[in-house]
Amino acid sequence: MFGKRYRLFSVYGFEIRIDASWFVLAFLVTWTLATGFFPAIAPGFSRNTYWVMGVLGAFGLFGSIVLHELAHAIVAQRNDIPMKGITLFIFGGVAEMGADPPSAGAELRMAAAGPIASVLIGGILYLVSAATAAVVPAPVVEVLRYLGWLNLILAAFNMIPAFPLDGGRILRAYLWHRRGSLRKATYTSSRVGAAFGLLLMALGIASLLGGMLVPGIWYLVLGMFLRALARSSYQQVLLKEALEGEPVSRFMKRDPVTVASSISLRELVEEYVYRHHHKLYPVVDDGELVGCVTVRQLREIPREQWEQRRVGDIAAGCTLQNTVAADADAMDALKLMRNTGSSRLLVTSNGTLDGVITLKDLLEFFSLRVELES
Ligand SMILES: [Zn+2]
Repeated sequence: MFGKRYRLFSVYGFEIRIDASWFVLAFLVTWTLATGFFPAIAPGFSRNTYWVMGVLGAFGLFGSIVLHELAHAIVAQRNDIPMKGITLFIFGGVAEMGADPPSAGAELRMAAAGPIASVLIGGILYLVSAATAAVVPAPVVEVLRYLGWLNLILAAFNMIPAFPLDGGRILRAYLWHRRGSLRKATYTSSRVGAAFGLLLMALGIASLLGGMLVPGIWYLVLGMFLRALARSSYQQVLLKEALEGEPVSRFMKRDPVTVASSISLRELVEEYVYRHHHKLYPVVDDGELVGCVTVRQLREIPREQWEQRRVGDIAAGCTLQNTVAADADAMDALKLMRNTGSSRLLVTSNGTLDGVITLKDLLEFFSLRVELES
């Protein structure tokens, strides 16, 4: 979902990252505040003052989103949900979870923490702006007041019950608690999320027709993004339900293509790589798994040496990155594929090669199951 990300700093052990798309939002916010918003609500200052106010407002938006996501992350971690850090991007921020919440209660507490933090920050900023109005320069008071409202709006928008917004997560937690099924709860709340996405898209089109180009495009893309997110969140839950608890050995193919360590690299290329198109080959001698050879390793050897050198010369030990135990959970195999980007894993038990499991096999099983059960 993200492009290039920059690491900024860590708070409470959570890494704060910025996606390149955030700079678009930062620019749009600064520009809108400096040329439209602040001149309208607080007339009489110079153009430079408005630009300074705009930049301060954008920094304030950044801080507000970080604190909102930090509240999610801290409460999530206290509720045994592993966190991967916080990323800011064009539509705000996201506290990335390493796994689904273990219970409806945990999800409720995690989801509510962000909006509660935003309401508190908004209230405090508003009070500070009122209390300091007589002593600090007027532009600063205006920025503080703006940030106060911004936090309240942030809380209100996130409380819309459209999954995966916070309000949608709260709705899902409530349905999960009542119906006892995470899948049904996710289904309903992601349908609401998708409907809200459609509403935003309609608003975007209306804005475009009304001549408001930037807000129009922004609403349109945000709506599309929310719809896609709602759909993929539901599929994620279906996938988890289908695969969790199933051993890897159920999906693996036995008798995988293997190579002997005695063959030359030229044979490896001609007889295996060009025929099977795999990127990784298990090296097996006398029924024993002795290592792994990859196309990447092969690429580092000059072509002239392919005839003389043997697979055994360049093969390395198979690693945890490309191997999974036969009795491991199929969902764990899928996670490993996602984390490493490799779509084929070797299945082993006690040092022998049992077979190979591929992403394609897992997804085929999944789509058959969805087709049969829906
Ligand atoms: Zn939130």
